[in-house]
Amino acid sequence: MYKPVRIAFLSEHASPAALRGGEDAGGQNVYVDEVSRNLARLGYSVDVFTRRDNAEMPEIIDWAPGVRVVNLTAGPESPLLKDDLWPYMPAFREAFLSFALRDEVSYELIHGNFWMSGWVAAELKQRLDVPVVQIFHAMGKTKRLHQGKNDHSPRARIAVETRVIRDVDRLIAQCPNELSELVDDYGADPAKIAVLPSAVNIEIFRPVPQAEARAFLKINPDEFVIVYVGRMLPRKDIRNVVRATALLLQRCPEKEKVRLLIVGGETPEPDPVRTPEIGELQRLASEMGIAERVQFVGKRQQDTLRYFYSAGDVVVTTPWYEPFGLTPLEGMACGRPVVGSAVGGITFTIKDGETGFLVPPRDPQALSERLYQLLCEPALRVSLGKAARERVEHEFTWRMVAARTAALYESLAMVQRPLILPDQPTLDLPIPSVAGR
Ligand code: UDP
Repeated sequence: MYKPVRIAFLSEHASPAALRGGEDAGGQNVYVDEVSRNLARLGYSVDVFTRRDNAEMPEIIDWAPGVRVVNLTAGPESPLLKDDLWPYMPAFREAFLSFALRDEVSYELIHGNFWMSGWVAAELKQRLDVPVVQIFHAMGKTKRLHQGKNDHSPRARIAVETRVIRDVDRLIAQCPNELSELVDDYGADPAKIAVLPSAVNIEIFRPVPQAEARAFLKINPDEFVIVYVGRMLPRKDIRNVVRATALLLQRCPEKEKVRLLIVGGETPEPDPVRTPEIGELQRLASEMGIAERVQFVGKRQQDTLRYFYSAGDVVVTTPWYEPFGLTPLEGMACGRPVVGSAVGGITFTIKDGETGFLVPPRDPQALSERLYQLLCEPALRVSLGKAARERVEHEFTWRMVAARTAALYESLAMVQRPLILPDQPTLDLPIPSVAGR
């Protein structure tokens, strides 16, 4: 009889279900959603364990063919800040064990996401003798370096990360930069790290003709539109984009022909109370005399974002640091040039001068120079955008990520290859690089 290969994804704060709601969901939610679905297409059966933050939520959600979301009770059944979840991780571990015992489910492998679920995974490895693959999504030392006193991570974070790195069987680094962080900052064994970049859904994120996107969003077809999409956090440095737009406007005779579109936030309506960074940006734009040229959109669902990216002439993201960064890939998938800061994963996804431009972070002048260049050179925008879409199609799809993740699982001797059903394609891509091999 066919016995599915069962994988437990642990993701204590980032549920795929949050992508459908009004909550602030970021790259980790997207990763868990896409990788679990695409693994299921390869024949795996995936349960995604997350913390229940709403008493109304059912325990089990049939999320997609082959994927269930399991809401475990650990702490209050209400939303909590990620930085406040650490004390509830022993309860999360116990809830997982009770669930597995009650439903008599055993898992061939645990795939931990973020440092707290990494701790739970390392604990479960000890108790159940099950192999663990871990992806951190972000590292505590890098966060502390860039955020300083504004880093509210629990004090235990870095010590826990160090233990997880030591104890798990394989580590996924999303880009070469993260590989260096793991090895140089934490002393990880390079032989157990696979560099396995994340990706973009190229069916959802696809170019829409610009005129159509602008008609849909009621944006003037003659404007030069700069688009930011992402969470509204100080570290994303959207203030830098506002400042660069102000500098660009100083050089433009027709000021009404430039617009900065800012998409994201806690709620579908831009609300400076629920999303304080929106308030900061509104103040800054007014101070700089460009309030009319900056439009706040609020949070949007993934399946409408292509209209926002495609309405743009350029997509911009200039964070202080970025572990990987999905939004540059999304802009590229929509056939737009992306200008990003030369940090973390962005240095890996954007090909400087070929699919967009890299600029130093915290440098509005450098950003405004590139914006001015793109404003003046429509043909360059088209050629960079075309190359961007091609790069994404060849290098960054979730099917590739799932195939490489499956190859990584199979490199652990205990995990068998699932029986691939006849209508499912076999994607035997190699793991792109396992350091030290
Ligand atoms: N996002 C979204 N709706 C919004 C703003 C952002 O769905 O209104 C998504 C965006 O499409 C991307 C993710 O949030 O997939 C952000 O991921 P990224 O890796 O760029 O940054 P993170 O949030 O993980 O720091």
